[in-house]
Amino acid sequence: MPSVHDDDFNVPPPEKAGISSTHWHPPPPPTLAVPKLEVTKELLQALPKTDLHCHLDGSMRLKTILELAEQQGVKLPANDEAALAKVIHKGEVCRDLEDYLVAFDVTCSVLQTEAALFRAAYELAIDAAAENVRYLEVRYAPVLHQQRGLKLTAIVDAVLEGLRTAKRETRIKYGVILCGIRHMNPQSSVRLAELCVAYKNRGVVGFDLAGAEANFPAKEHREAFQLILKNNVNCTAHAGEAYGPESIGQALHYLGAHRIGHGVRLREDGDLLNYVNDHRIPLECCPSSNVQTRAVSEMAAHPLKFYFDYGLRVTINTDNRLITDTTVSHEYWIAHKELGLSLEDLTTIIVSGFKSAFLPFREKQDMLKAVNAEIEATLKRFEAKAPAKAR
Ligand SMILES: [Zn+2]
Repeated sequence: MPSVHDDDFNVPPPEKAGISSTHWHPPPPPTLAVPKLEVTKELLQALPKTDLHCHLDGSMRLKTILELAEQQGVKLPANDEAALAKVIHKGEVCRDLEDYLVAFDVTCSVLQTEAALFRAAYELAIDAAAENVRYLEVRYAPVLHQQRGLKLTAIVDAVLEGLRTAKRETRIKYGVILCGIRHMNPQSSVRLAELCVAYKNRGVVGFDLAGAEANFPAKEHREAFQLILKNNVNCTAHAGEAYGPESIGQALHYLGAHRIGHGVRLREDGDLLNYVNDHRIPLECCPSSNVQTRAVSEMAAHPLKFYFDYGLRVTINTDNRLITDTTVSHEYWIAHKELGLSLEDLTTIIVSGFKSAFLPFREKQDMLKAVNAEIEATLKRFEAKAPAKAR
């Protein structure tokens, strides 16, 4: 599915450009004036950002898991922060995606009450706002929070209330993406799609397919996605992370995905790569997570820079703040330090994040205007205080 074309956001009509229409050629999209400035962690933290691929159950505070377990009488495999960090592979490289997914059993064990879901959502948005994430899309699978009999509707309401509360305090914008799970019965995805349809325009902005990718083809969940598409709901799918490009092809052509989660293995199929590029389908890249799950052998082998240089619409995201031990600012730092993306590249990717949000086009235009102004002001501020030699 084609997403909003890049130029739609930037190109002024001929009259406004002050050039007669007979001689008018589309001007190149205005690029931000990015000064020569040393990229620092402080600068990346200060810039406005998005996080479009962030799992609620993978992004809790460690301390909160321990406190919730205590309150709820849940037995955890470890009872202090250091030992629990080890159990959930915090920041460690895992054997594979399945090994990594085990960590979610621990976090989900304490996310079975409305109060816990409210708190996890609230704290996640507060943490994101603290590093200047201006727009956050939080995703989770409500079906994983029913171990104590919660209704699906109560689960969705609790998370939305947590995010709403954080928005009142920080003005962070948010949207929720509900996930179907690949390795569960496709009928459960249909139930979740129905939930998603009901909550469209009520805080829920999209649908996703998550879970174990290998051996669980996306096309088995197409009934759920048909319902989603029929109701004009945005959708994305994890694909090309633990399986090859066929998985991305299925996400696009069977599920109608408007964005792709990860897409690390898209580079193995040139034709599909060009299809994704031609249709400006955004990739939700999560570099550190991809190293952790061994979707790439090491950071230097990550395709983010190649995709960006080729012209793909890439975005940078956390995936799981806790389990991968990361933040959006840190992922941008890695993209600069380890993958060699320049400040100009990074600001382009920041803007791509806002362009790729599951929001109405006009709302995105307004948000982009504000974000462009904020990026320029931030760069100027850092330029003014930079030592002369760095300029
Ligand atoms: Zn993910």
